[in-house]
Amino acid sequence: MLTDPIVQEILIDITHDEESSVSVIGCILSGVTSDFDIAEETGINLTIIRKVLYDLHSAGLATYNRIEDPDNTGDIYSWKFKQERVCEIIQSKYVNISAEIEKSIKYEEENMFFVCKSNNHRYKFENASDHNFECPICGDSLKHQDNSKIILELLKEKEAISSMVKLNINSII
Ligand SMILES: [Zn+2]
Repeated sequence: MLTDPIVQEILIDITHDEESSVSVIGCILSGVTSDFDIAEETGINLTIIRKVLYDLHSAGLATYNRIEDPDNTGDIYSWKFKQERVCEIIQSKYVNISAEIEKSIKYEEENMFFVCKSNNHRYKFENASDHNFECPICGDSLKHQDNSKIILELLKEKEAISSMVKLNINSII
């Protein structure tokens, strides 16, 4: 799971430190759960580990239990990584991207576009009409653009994200 590019992207968004967060989570998943033990195991500075854990906790990706220290020198925190929360984050990320693409598709479908031949400057009908179908940048004449290919590309993109995320969540679960 930790080698998955989508998961790594999420960890960068949350902790801004992918390398340390992958090491910290790897430790927790292998049963090394206290910040001190993780520091010992990975050689990463304790302050960095605590920051990663704090960020993961803020994002709902990690929880902790306080364990009384048998030597009574203070409390120890045992951390747990919430794998199912990663799936939720991927889902909501997918929903956002998907909504953006959906918006673009609607924009393409609801508008008529005109382009100039030489430079591909693109205008909506109203703008093209305002300029008498002459490109205001290069002066070339504007021709109606068939945007069905653009729409098709957007639909493909949406489909690709959808199947990629499904694949991803299956591999995580
Ligand atoms: Zn032009």
